[in-house]
Amino acid sequence: MHWLERWLLPSKCVLTGEGSGLLDISEYLVDTWSKPEEVCPQCCEPSPSSQVCGACLTQTPSFDRTQVGFYFEEELAGLVHGLKYQNRLAYSRILAELLVKSVDAEAVDAVVAVPLHLNRRRSRGYNQAELIAQEMARILQIPLIRDGIERVVDTPSQTHLDADERRRNLKGAFKVVPEAFSAVNRIALVDDVITTGATMQQLASEIKSRTDIEWIEAWAVAKTK
Ligand SMILES: [Zn+2]
Repeated sequence: MHWLERWLLPSKCVLTGEGSGLLDISEYLVDTWSKPEEVCPQCCEPSPSSQVCGACLTQTPSFDRTQVGFYFEEELAGLVHGLKYQNRLAYSRILAELLVKSVDAEAVDAVVAVPLHLNRRRSRGYNQAELIAQEMARILQIPLIRDGIERVVDTPSQTHLDADERRRNLKGAFKVVPEAFSAVNRIALVDDVITTGATMQQLASEIKSRTDIEWIEAWAVAKTK
């Protein structure tokens, strides 16, 4: 939506056009989206009674907690695609508002966006995860750490890879700048969508091995089922 339209027609759902209170999207619509429930608190995979799952007990991930707004489906997928591929930058605020409403941010001192490689950032013109993280930092009134991690390998698209292939694909993909993290202990890594968690794992492992960060959460607006 153009900023002028938003000014003239405040608080209407960008998808249904209904009045929507404080959010820019109909709360009625959002209520119909499916959310992860009964999931492992650490990795967000289904787990009875929301206990830490067997996979996390066997091989503990480097991130300590995962918080996800919704499953990646319905209209939400359209919003994410709009932001990522159609230059709908205003959607970053909506996605950030939705994620802020879904997470418990109590344990986190700062947010960090999952980085894009410079080549991809240049061709897209922006990093959608950073736009979301920036809005979240503003709403939560906590710092956004920029330039703390660089994506040094332009990894090929991960879309058709399974979890093991993704892990291999990401080896050495990130470079951490330890000084950027010197003032914080507990951070959340922010992305638009979590698929297998391989990116979050690689990032968290790299950050923990290079800094004094003690607690890392993985936050995403959506997770694939
Ligand atoms: Zn788990």
